[in-house]
Amino acid sequence: MGTKFPSVNVNQYVNIIDKLGTVSRTMCVYCGNNNVPSGDMWLCAYCENANSGSMSSIKLKDTSLVNSLSIVTTAIAKNDFKTAIIEYDKIITRYGEPGYMYNYGLLHFQFSNFLVGAIRYDRKGFMEENSILREQASIVASTAKKILNRAAFMCKTDMSTGKGNDLTMYTMFIISIKLRKMKTARKAIELLNQLGNQYLTTYSEMVFNAEAGRYPELVNYATELVKKGQLSINAFYYIAWALFKDRKYADSKRILDALNKQLQNETIIALSNELEKATSSY
Ligand SMILES: [Zn+2]
Repeated sequence: MGTKFPSVNVNQYVNIIDKLGTVSRTMCVYCGNNNVPSGDMWLCAYCENANSGSMSSIKLKDTSLVNSLSIVTTAIAKNDFKTAIIEYDKIITRYGEPGYMYNYGLLHFQFSNFLVGAIRYDRKGFMEENSILREQASIVASTAKKILNRAAFMCKTDMSTGKGNDLTMYTMFIISIKLRKMKTARKAIELLNQLGNQYLTTYSEMVFNAEAGRYPELVNYATELVKKGQLSINAFYYIAWALFKDRKYADSKRILDALNKQLQNETIIALSNELEKATSSY
């Protein structure tokens, strides 16, 4: 604690983000969302899975996978989570990789959040419906946790049998964050560092500090990522988050607006809405 909030060059960052308009978009091979790829390895702006360029190009030739992912994203857009889960289940059967299992867990969390959002507090007549929704949401959330634990187990097995690599360790990290197992997450960062992946180590440090509520540290790691040749667009999102938490609302909004122009992404929209709420309550 006690680290001073670093100054953020918002103009420079907005400029960098605006220039991303010319970069051709690529589908994340795990969640199917559109991304602005940067360098040979990039983190999905939605599920945060690590996509490696060479691996992704092989998978994008798998038309059955691409079709399935398109069914999943279309269903989610219509809040039809049951269809999305049934379709994603087929992907899990084909690709028994921890990254897919992790995203399957995220999908369940998203479904659970949707059910919670459907609860109506405004009218007494909905009490019975509400209790059903609440129960369903908690069942789906506990399924999500089980799936993420299974994904973590897959990572551990891959690492101990020599099948795993730095990407596996990163997946282990991001799963631990979603499960809020901070000690396991910390350990994964140390191992990532030992494996020599500086990019994923810095990225993980940024996410770890975001989860731990250490916003000045978050900004320092994000700034490091922006300076690296291999740019991560997510670093800007995390900077906007830190600025929001530090009540630098105008700066946060400028970065989010720039990001919004590049990516139609629920995470970015959600933070923009929170920002809107915070500033309108003045
Ligand atoms: Zn993704």
